[in-house]
Amino acid sequence: MAPHPSTLLEPHTPPALATEPHVIVRGEGITVWDSEGRSYLDGTSGMLCTNLGYSQPRLVRAAARQMVELPFFASFAHRTSDVALALAEDLARVAPLPMGRTFFANSGAEANDSAFKLAWYYHRCLGRHERFKILSQEKGYHGTTVAAGSATGLEFIHRGFGLPLASYVKVPCPDPHGPLGQGMSEERFVERLIGRLERLIAVEDPDTIAAFIAEPILSAGGLIIPPPSYYPRVQEVLARHDILFILDEVVTGFGRTGAMFATTEFGLAPDLITLAKGLSSAYAPISAVLVGRRVMNAIAEGSPDIGAFGHGFTYSGHPVAAAVAREALAIVLEENVPGHVRETAPTLMQALADAFRGEESVRDVRGHGFLAAVTFVTGAGGRPEGDWGAQVMAEAVGHGLLVRAVGDTVILAPPLISTDDEIRTMVELLEKSYHSALAGTYATW
Ligand code: PLP
Repeated sequence: MAPHPSTLLEPHTPPALATEPHVIVRGEGITVWDSEGRSYLDGTSGMLCTNLGYSQPRLVRAAARQMVELPFFASFAHRTSDVALALAEDLARVAPLPMGRTFFANSGAEANDSAFKLAWYYHRCLGRHERFKILSQEKGYHGTTVAAGSATGLEFIHRGFGLPLASYVKVPCPDPHGPLGQGMSEERFVERLIGRLERLIAVEDPDTIAAFIAEPILSAGGLIIPPPSYYPRVQEVLARHDILFILDEVVTGFGRTGAMFATTEFGLAPDLITLAKGLSSAYAPISAVLVGRRVMNAIAEGSPDIGAFGHGFTYSGHPVAAAVAREALAIVLEENVPGHVRETAPTLMQALADAFRGEESVRDVRGHGFLAAVTFVTGAGGRPEGDWGAQVMAEAVGHGLLVRAVGDTVILAPPLISTDDEIRTMVELLEKSYHSALAGTYATW
């Protein structure tokens, strides 16, 4: 089969695909249009990132103004731009942890790589030269660079690349429906997970472990919602060994869960928080690491002995991206986007429950804020394992809805500006897509 003639090497796509890619050409509100003129409700918010929809005029104006004023200046070697400084100030005002400083990068993966380096630098500043290991969860997703990809707990990100690197160690996935959690009370499941974590730390030797990274809700792994008591218990274990806790809020930050940050909502106290996606509502590539005060103080004190923080990117704190992020944050605050999500999320859950609960082929319906999922019974209807998600997703395209598939799960993550009516329409389209998949009208989209 000859590959299709496009010259674009597409991320997360089999290179041998012979079909043309689906090309999106325009967006407005929560709707996008393809090159054939067909419209779709975007139930994926791009990649869980276009939180404010596609035609936010304030974001466009902020970018244009900054392009005219100062399109670029680097933040290297103690010279920076006014707008990068101002964005760091804005973030310090809303940060859900006692703030030290903010480091800027361009993607979620770069933010996580930067957080690892900050953790290593922190331990070196304290004279701990053996602390390089990074703990993360099976099915966690932190990006695909060599370091963030090593922390990601999904096999297809590692295969063929010699990953994960040796110093990246996995802990079990906190999935109540997974092999460790099934049929257990929350209490016993969490005991089990914490027991495993403690044993792993003892076997690896705490003096070799720099940090633990995790998402509050595991998105790309299939929308896995850990039991509420899990992270508070993890934190206690980490604190005992001064293993830094990096909370990856790349997806959850800026309102997706119905709070400004999941950190506050779940009562967590991470040492570092990574942010991307909703930071600029995806209108410009920018990410950030919020460095807590305790870590920052240790770094500031210890660094004269070991030299400058040898890490950064040409586009760290890019002025146009920073100006867009400042405006996105202003909109999220002024329009109380987290409050809107909190008020509207029950409509999403109710509509999904009405449409899917009790269906023979449905294993469960779950969600939090504007992150929701339906998992189908593996093998139901004689389908191969992991086929349900892709099939429902393909049918959804035919019905004018974009959703995401992970194995037998479909994820619905509407833009955070979606109204009750728009949410109900999305769920109606998803229900139709499920019935098309059930009827076996194999989609050709
Ligand atoms: N962290 C989380 C939780 C994510 O979901 C993602 C991307 O989906 C990343 C990190 C990586 O972000 P990026 O694709 O911008 O590198």
